Amino acid sequence: MKIQFDHILIRYGELGLKGKNIKQFLIRLQHHIQHKLRDFKGIKVKRTQGRMFVLLNGHEPEPVLDILQHVFGIKSMSLAIKVENTLEDIQAATLFAIQEEPTVKTFKISAKRTNKDFPHGSQEMNQILGGHVLVNCEDVTVDVHHPDLEIKVEIRNEATYITSKVVPGLGGLPVGTSNKTLLLLSGGIDSPVAGYLAMKRGVSIEAIHFHSPPFTSERAKQKVLDIAKKLTKYGINIKIHMVPFTKLQQAIFEKIPENFAMTVMRRMMLKISERVCRNEGIMSIATGENLGQVASQTMESMYAINAVTNLPILRPLITMDKDEIVQISREIDTFDISIRPYEDCCTVFVPKAPKTKPNKEKVEAFEAQFDYTELLNEAYEGIEVVTVTDQEEKTDVFDDLL
Ligand code: ATP
Ligand code: MG
Repeated sequence: MKIQFDHILIRYGELGLKGKNIKQFLIRLQHHIQHKLRDFKGIKVKRTQGRMFVLLNGHEPEPVLDILQHVFGIKSMSLAIKVENTLEDIQAATLFAIQEEPTVKTFKISAKRTNKDFPHGSQEMNQILGGHVLVNCEDVTVDVHHPDLEIKVEIRNEATYITSKVVPGLGGLPVGTSNKTLLLLSGGIDSPVAGYLAMKRGVSIEAIHFHSPPFTSERAKQKVLDIAKKLTKYGINIKIHMVPFTKLQQAIFEKIPENFAMTVMRRMMLKISERVCRNEGIMSIATGENLGQVASQTMESMYAINAVTNLPILRPLITMDKDEIVQISREIDTFDISIRPYEDCCTVFVPKAPKTKPNKEKVEAFEAQFDYTELLNEAYEGIEVVTVTDQEEKTDVFDDLL
């Protein structure tokens, strides 16, 4: 029998707290994993007796682990070998598991026999298997307190499972278990991180982006699509609502005193976003806002901007420092795209000295001097919807030759 890692054991953390919803959560997680592994023919994802397994069916474990490390809801994973309940097979698999980790110097065997027909008890198996490893491997010793590697051997009725090192997962909750939000996605560093963190708590996302052609270029738009593509790695397809914002922005900058224009612009963004939410059945909005970072992100400013909607606004970055945000944006690989130098609508129409503490009543009074309804309708009706898929882009090796 050829011994190889043929299973990946999946551990989920917080799902255990979800009481009656647990089954639904696990089904989501299972389906999401199945979806992400769809290109691996023959791989299966199984749920049995409170645990989840990926059956590799001949595939190498590394590329599968790499994908699973981008799935929210997985706390950790271990490679596992399933063997028949014979001492010989269990010994061989235990030895294989330790030999696969050449840097390991100390180990511990933790056997657990739930199959009472198996002739050796848990403690006895620890000794038998520990001895077998010591005889066959040089340079390793047993350390029961702080081993480099703990090999778990579970002798169950149907088979024995040998699991080795623990690979951390992303944690969080399976995407889609906490409903959906509309993410205001700019081309900046912050909003993609906000989207990622919302997804981490099980929220699936649609995105909305405001652009102002011809002041903003096609490349600025492409930047947003490229960022969204990176986010799909952690979830599923993302639908992006591209709003033509030029006329509305021009009107705002014509009618509103310059230092209040930013506030009004944000209020208009929220009004349009709210309409999209109502139409799509989405119950919240998410932004990359962060307290104190820029003029539009003071408490007073948020108060004046937020007043146009009753929808909950998720602000996952609200208390974070910029360097923490940058670090996550590097981890999720959006940073390099975000710093591409194409202008977005806010940078084009940036007022020289925006009010850091805009008074809500004043903002409303300025806004009331002109009827924006038609321009709002026009922007809303001009929305173009683009869907970015989570499909890996396949680059054909022959493309370059043609
Ligand atoms: P970011 O890095 O996400 O652009 P920022 O620090 O530049 O954020 P602002 O420009 O004040 O902050 O924007 C605050 C939030 O408003 C953004 O995080 C984003 O959610 C939203 N936003 C700003 N500009 C746009 C836009 N053109 N389209 C969609 N949402 C936007
Ligand atoms: Mg910005």
